[in-house]
Amino acid sequence: MNVPNALTVDVEDYFHVAALAPSIDRDSWTSRESRVVGNTHNMLALFEQFDVRGTFFVLGWVAERYPQLVRDIAADGHEIACHGFSHRLVYEQSPEEFYDETLRAKNLLEDITGSAVIGYRAASYSIVRESLWAMDILAELGFGYDSSIFPVRHDRYGIPDAERAPHRMSTLGGKSIVEWPLATARILGFRLPVAGGGYFRLLPYWLSRWGVASINQRDLRPFIFYLHPWEIDPAQPRVAASLLSQFRHYTNLGKCEERLRRLLGTFAFGTARDSLVQLGLLSTTGMPC
Ligand SMILES: [Zn+2]
Repeated sequence: MNVPNALTVDVEDYFHVAALAPSIDRDSWTSRESRVVGNTHNMLALFEQFDVRGTFFVLGWVAERYPQLVRDIAADGHEIACHGFSHRLVYEQSPEEFYDETLRAKNLLEDITGSAVIGYRAASYSIVRESLWAMDILAELGFGYDSSIFPVRHDRYGIPDAERAPHRMSTLGGKSIVEWPLATARILGFRLPVAGGGYFRLLPYWLSRWGVASINQRDLRPFIFYLHPWEIDPAQPRVAASLLSQFRHYTNLGKCEERLRRLLGTFAFGTARDSLVQLGLLSTTGMPC
């Protein structure tokens, strides 16, 4: 397995998170203390220490306010990809709304960087069976790959029996797009999400490490890992939320950076785009082949 694993970051602030959305009014976003720029720079410095490049799925809302941050990420050699504009869940939008906000975010990122953006990840992995129509819109807008499908069972996302490996898929309308589902490990007939984020913070490190290693060594393919800038920021302002949401958002924030360092020191990482090209799924121009 010589293709690097994909290191990905969803660039958003702590107050954008779906788990906290019931407790945070969208109208309050602009008045809250934003920490995304500092946290993302901390991640960039960490990646630089390990000399790794990754893919940053940037939320349009963040890019509009902090275009220099997008330029800084790109200047370090990372791939800029799209995390939508508003962080609204795909299955709560109409196709027309999804088209408009995705186009707006893509155009914005391309204007800032001067380069084509070919990767997409939905807010909270919200491309589920009922919102697979979104794949047609992504292909139509010129995205070569998506990484929004979580092949697990969860209350907010997931297609439990979806394919686990990166693959070329036909959209409902017959177009072509590459899908790289979030990483799951096979354990005793179950799929264990070891993709990053809350799972990376909640599971013991040895289990995450075993899980992703099994994808490389047993499934013989690269895994895709994700994290958010706020996940290495234990000093972020606390938001009153349900016990479940607090558990998902705040558990082990103080341990996450050290775990990330261990992961970066153990596995080979690169951008999602480069790995998909090496796997023969994307052309060098970023389109499905
Ligand atoms: Zn997000």
